[in-house]
Amino acid sequence: MDEQTARKLIVEIGKLMYDKGYVTSSDGNISYRLGENLILATPTQVSKGRMTEDIMALTDLEGKPLNDRRVSSEIQMHLLIYRMRPDINAVCHAHVPHGTAFAAAGLSIDAPILSEVILTLGCVPLTAYGTPSTSELTDSLKPYVEHHNALLLENHGVVAYGKDLWQAFDRLETLEHTAKIAILAKILGGANDLPKDAIEKLINIREKAGYLTEAARCQACGYLEHTDIKCSLDAESVNIGNSNGAKISFTREELIELLAQAANIG
Ligand SMILES: [Zn+2]
Repeated sequence: MDEQTARKLIVEIGKLMYDKGYVTSSDGNISYRLGENLILATPTQVSKGRMTEDIMALTDLEGKPLNDRRVSSEIQMHLLIYRMRPDINAVCHAHVPHGTAFAAAGLSIDAPILSEVILTLGCVPLTAYGTPSTSELTDSLKPYVEHHNALLLENHGVVAYGKDLWQAFDRLETLEHTAKIAILAKILGGANDLPKDAIEKLINIREKAGYLTEAARCQACGYLEHTDIKCSLDAESVNIGNSNGAKISFTREELIELLAQAANIG
């Protein structure tokens, strides 16, 4: 996509985010990877509902400004995602009310209750609180970026990312819609989880159809807890995830092996 089209699309998505109540005041930010080391991003201190194409900032992948517009300090979160995920070209950060309510309550959006969400978004884990504009925030995201397409930022907001601007926005929208449904279902007595074989089928379909890769199988994911499907996270990430208070799940085989090891040590 050329720069002019990207600028136009960022303005359009900013307006959608504002109109849908995903951001207020100058909250949130949107960015797009224009080139290998070139990022187009919304500037700091601007309402996402009232942007024009000419106000966008340009930076490199380290955050060095490449024009006279200043980006928000939250750009570091975007840059981390671009550096870790070559398949990602767009990032949307917002303070969506229902998604952020989960993040403020210290909850992940990871109950296997909606088939479409398992298919297209995957679970959305909660990342530990980090002071915005410091490396605390990016450090707490690091263990999760590779295996998820959207994250909850504890006591702050959410971030969603995709191969292009529309996919990033769609994922943000799906996240918020899911959070809203989950809250409403709770009022009605609680949502029913999908059964194990249904979750396994959905995970297999999404990989076959190319909606999500095997990288989306994650131990911080609440879906796998209900299945025999194995996670592809390495041991190092699991430890980091655990220290951040993420929910860790094991397959039956892994659990048996762990118990056997514990018995041997004891
Ligand atoms: Zn924010």
